[in-house]
Amino acid sequence: MRHFAAPANDSVFGFCSILRTFHISTKLWRRSCTTHSICHATKSKEELLVVVGGGAAGVYGAIHAKTVAPHLSVVVIEKGKPLSKVKISGGGRCNVTNGHCVDNMILAENYPRGHKELRGSFFNIHGPADTMSWFASHGVELKVEDDGRVFPVSNSSSSIIDCLMSEVKQRGVSLQTRKAVAAISILSGGKFLLEIQQHTSVHVERVEADYLLIASGSSRQGYTLASQLGHSIVDPVPSLFTFKIEDLCLRELSGVTFPKVKVRLKLDSVQKNIPKLTQVGPMLVTHWGLSGPVILRLSAWGARLLFSSSYKGKLFVDFIPDLHVETLKSILSHHKLQYAKQKVLNSCPPEFGLTKRFWSYVLERQGLSGDVLWASMSNSSLMSIGSLLKDCIFEVTGKGQFKDEFVTAGGVPLSEISLNTMESKVCPRLFFAGEILNVDGVTGGFNFQNAWSGGFIAGTTIGGLALESCIGLK
Ligand SMILES: Cc1cc2nc3c(=O)[nH]c(=O)nc-3n(C[C@H](O)[C@H](O)[C@H](O)COP(=O)(O)OP(=O)(O)OC[C@H]3O[C@@H](n4cnc5c(N)ncnc54)[C@H](O)[C@@H]3O)c2cc1C
Repeated sequence: MRHFAAPANDSVFGFCSILRTFHISTKLWRRSCTTHSICHATKSKEELLVVVGGGAAGVYGAIHAKTVAPHLSVVVIEKGKPLSKVKISGGGRCNVTNGHCVDNMILAENYPRGHKELRGSFFNIHGPADTMSWFASHGVELKVEDDGRVFPVSNSSSSIIDCLMSEVKQRGVSLQTRKAVAAISILSGGKFLLEIQQHTSVHVERVEADYLLIASGSSRQGYTLASQLGHSIVDPVPSLFTFKIEDLCLRELSGVTFPKVKVRLKLDSVQKNIPKLTQVGPMLVTHWGLSGPVILRLSAWGARLLFSSSYKGKLFVDFIPDLHVETLKSILSHHKLQYAKQKVLNSCPPEFGLTKRFWSYVLERQGLSGDVLWASMSNSSLMSIGSLLKDCIFEVTGKGQFKDEFVTAGGVPLSEISLNTMESKVCPRLFFAGEILNVDGVTGGFNFQNAWSGGFIAGTTIGGLALESCIGLK
């Protein structure tokens, strides 16, 4: 029988809520034991899993624990609203996962923190294809967009939330919101003693749990709980952000996109060559500076270095990465001959594929008048255009916000976790999943995939242990 210790100064409401919780779980236990009477007959002890955090990892983990071990009492404690990040994710569409990485080795390359460790069992146990088939088999139609991002066909994150909430209800997971797990200690028998605070009262509930899954995302409180249980924390820093660039002329290009540029980040504090600080992909000019997939990827790989450089550095952009500098020069020379009588501003070499707005920026930045004829362009002017297009330098002066997605790098180190079970190596029966771990992905659905995979592995492992315990194997 599970033990709830009410504090001495417990309010009537608080105590009633304990009794109610207890009553609900007893009812669930009875109900599940009618279908699983073998468990009840073998061992009448009811076990409890408490999940800290009702985000993607916690809810998915709870559902899977209950799927494997329906007799196990599963309670999710969520301090705010459940699945709140899922709701706002991907601009309200929820980029559930990524459908372009069939090979798990390539998939792992999308995690600046975790790329080495996640090459192993993690995605083999539950990868993007498993996530997609789970949602599909639970009634959510998904689509893979050209860039690999997977969304619900409805284009609404509500489809994902409704699916998960319906499973929570159907499986009998108890989801308790507006309550925060404030402290955790380990009792002499190895159980966890949790102190749970209600949002609207000073009342503290004390609950003993047999299994604990901490899936508290990037919350400070979650890191404190992990520390209380003996884990270390890699300092959290933001990842996935845009670059602020102080350049008034660039600001006028706001909205201009480049389908393929090559960017290289140079930070004063970093002398050695770091290959991941060079990225290729689409870029977008914003009102504040630069954004788009290539910048977000760079921000993720450089998250820690940028943090220690106070988000200041130099960005070298090659606007035409598919053309060698010599080819580019010869295109400019030919263009000069062929369009000698045309004004430079009105005639940009089509091979460059540049917009007129950007071409005008290039000329202005190099101090060249667009009103002169190509015939009067000197060789040094052609060279200066060529060098700007191949190696344009921008001063990064800070970080901006990418509203569609952001994550935290840092958290519980993966070296302290067994990735094939998600169990702590420090504390038995303690599990972690999701963003609380020192794992973060680039944009494109990889962060949710970390939450689904970790939640699945932790949930099914806990379910398996509860089954073993139920039939008296442990
Ligand atoms: C605006 C935005 C958009 C995003 N879009 C995408 C996207 O489209 N695709 C993608 O892959 N990723 C996206 N991400 C990242 C993704 O949302 C996260 O990686 C993912 O939500 C992590 O899941 P989690 O369950 O680990 O943590 P969370 O979703 O953060 O859930 C943790 C939960 O724990 C609760 N909690 C914390 N401490 C306690 C406590 N002590 N007691 C009780 N409850 C507690 C919190 O309230 C929270 O609800 C986005 C992130 C943001 C901010």
